[in-house]
Amino acid sequence: MSFESLGLRTELLRAVSEKGYSVPTPIQQQAIPLVLEGRDIMGGAQTGTGKTAGFTLPLLQRLMSSGKPEKGRRIVRALVLTPTRELAAQVNESVESYGKYLPLRSTVIFGGVKINPQIQKLRNGVDILVATPGRLLDHVSQKTVDLSRLDILVLDEADRMLDMGFIRDIRKILALLPRQKQTLFFSATFSDEIKRLANDLLRSPALVEVAQRNTAAERVSQVVHPVDKKRKRELLSYLIGSKNWKQVLVFNRTKHGANRLSEQLITDGITAAAIHGNKSQGARTRALADFKSGKVRVLVATDIAARGLDINELPHVVNYELPNVAEDYVHRIGRTGRAGREGEAMSLVCVDELKLLRDIERLLKRDIPKVVIDDFEPDPSIKAEPINTGRGGRKQGARRTNAKPQNGRPPLHARRNRGNRSRRSAE
Ligand code: AMP
Repeated sequence: MSFESLGLRTELLRAVSEKGYSVPTPIQQQAIPLVLEGRDIMGGAQTGTGKTAGFTLPLLQRLMSSGKPEKGRRIVRALVLTPTRELAAQVNESVESYGKYLPLRSTVIFGGVKINPQIQKLRNGVDILVATPGRLLDHVSQKTVDLSRLDILVLDEADRMLDMGFIRDIRKILALLPRQKQTLFFSATFSDEIKRLANDLLRSPALVEVAQRNTAAERVSQVVHPVDKKRKRELLSYLIGSKNWKQVLVFNRTKHGANRLSEQLITDGITAAAIHGNKSQGARTRALADFKSGKVRVLVATDIAARGLDINELPHVVNYELPNVAEDYVHRIGRTGRAGREGEAMSLVCVDELKLLRDIERLLKRDIPKVVIDDFEPDPSIKAEPINTGRGGRKQGARRTNAKPQNGRPPLHARRNRGNRSRRSAE
């Protein structure tokens, strides 16, 4: 199948071919014709599947065919809501690059940066607005955005938005939108809460699904390297050096840990930067740009900061520490092996983390191969200690005593904690 056969207009085909895409991904093959027909979509797709182009291309075409903006005044006709600033910025980049030959204007608004330049852009008029929920509501309360004439709403990574505590903000935003509109709803997982939200929003949606729920990205090869906690940094430097990795995304549980690790890697002579919610937006954008351009070899990230990061052809992901919540593992390794490319995910696992590893393997419904690296054999006399989650000294062991995953999801109290914590760092 080709992009031409999907019924896209020539301006879009030209932009797509300039991006170097020749064949639509499965989600694009399914979603594009349905969106062009005007159908609501319930999309089960993880990042890395090409879903952004799957909704952006037909959205641009629909806006073109629904007529020119009123004379002298543009109004927001399409709104894309995303959970994080990085994802918002990336979606807007996609809108701009796919729409480069069309006379449509878009902008992106998110927190952590000055609001006035955003107000100015909105005042100049935009057709497509990409936004995170909190900052969008700030604009609503300042009456600097009008959503009353919306034609198309996209909720991207809806499960992440709920996990991050945005449900009330989302409901407030929905109440401002016209009833009659096309809604495209994307989520990697479908909890009861997500289904309720989708039910309230969608009118006889077409189901579009490309990745099974909770399966790790297919093409990512995974391995666990057992190692003592104290020797993880040494092992990481060794792996990067001996395998000559040029671009590696490393996950840490805490912001403090991410900072410390990136400083230590720099001391080891490896260029590195940290990205997390305590960094200013400028620092986050810079770190990501330097990583993408190859100026820094290692980007050390926390889970929240890494959500939605789209780095072309990212070959290696390292879990320097396993995540507290098993589902985050799936999300982390999904940063590599995107759009069908090969990817490799390594986890450096110490004795404290064996329970977390078991949770992950239960969620994946398979064991991850364990490979001990010569000279880094774990010392069997070291006993497991509770894990410091970096949250006011609360220990992982204490929090999870009754914490059986519910359908692979963390227990509700854990989800709430995450929500409160992350909303701030994301917005
Ligand atoms: P997404 O899932 O939307 O975040 O996209 C993941 C990555 O796949 C992005 O880097 C896109 O640029 C890339 N991509 C999207 N569609 C295609 C395609 N048809 N062929 C090759 N790469 C694609």
